[in-house]
Amino acid sequence: VASPKPRPAASSSPAGEDRAIGRLTQIMGRAAGPRPAGDLWIGDDAAVVDAAGQRLVLATDAAVAGVHADLAVVGLDDLGWKGLTAAVSDLGAMGAVPRWALVTFGLPPRTDLDRLAGGVAEASVAWACPVVGGDLTTADQVVVSVSVVGLLDGPRPAVTRAGAVGGDTLVVTGPLGASAAGLRWLRAGVSDGPLVSAHRRPPARLAAGQVARAADATAMIDVSDGFSLDLHRLADASGVGFVLDDLPVAEGATTDDALGGGEDYELIIATGDPDALAAALAAAGLPAPFVLGRCVDDPAVRRLGRDDLPRLGWEHPIG
Ligand SMILES: [Mg+2]
Repeated sequence: VASPKPRPAASSSPAGEDRAIGRLTQIMGRAAGPRPAGDLWIGDDAAVVDAAGQRLVLATDAAVAGVHADLAVVGLDDLGWKGLTAAVSDLGAMGAVPRWALVTFGLPPRTDLDRLAGGVAEASVAWACPVVGGDLTTADQVVVSVSVVGLLDGPRPAVTRAGAVGGDTLVVTGPLGASAAGLRWLRAGVSDGPLVSAHRRPPARLAAGQVARAADATAMIDVSDGFSLDLHRLADASGVGFVLDDLPVAEGATTDDALGGGEDYELIIATGDPDALAAALAAAGLPAPFVLGRCVDDPAVRRLGRDDLPRLGWEHPIG
């Protein structure tokens, strides 16, 4: 979770960061010229490009001290872990297998580089994604920028945010809100426990993403900026609405943590065959997904129970 309180973007339309991404898509698209058929560029969790017949999945993510980590309560190693984990999570949300990482460190004077790099290295082992290069620069704040390259196993397309249709079931791979609750505990002086671990060392649901792709998931996104905001993004991209019946709140977390806290890195998955998805996850030894509700044809319908679901989450105030 961002160290300032997540800014609830409680409107019904994209704002701030999402508008800035729209402008970037135009500027970069004009410069790049026509996009090759089959490529997927800016706008999803990761890009998919064809490199001489091999599909590569590309993502990048930055973790900045004071924005993505409060160094008063978490270590530089935790910031490093988060930088690499957030990047590979975006590959997982396409169903891709992470393969290589490049890491740029921006460092103020006297930063403990060993500790920062140690956290990145731990994550690279956990997610089997070695760091093969990078760069070092001075900066006013500690910045960890991680670019990752992944591969798609077999001929199926990547799972984008855009494939959900009315009638699809929406599931999430695990309970939500633990990271935000963990930050609160850390600030209250608690230094261990599952919520604190969830904040300091969030997971990436790589195996679940790969299984979901193999089981014909129609759309997928990872919960980074906030469950509600990220679900709205999936619905926007797919042109659908949704009706949620229930929400899995992590033990010790609040509903607000679950809706808008972010950085849980669970996957929201849309599927036309929830039984097949659940069976595939079980066969892979993964936890049963939590059924949230369903997609509906009308994109204006965005409900949790009887209430409209606002876009709660962290949007960087850019643009
Ligand atoms: Mg993402």
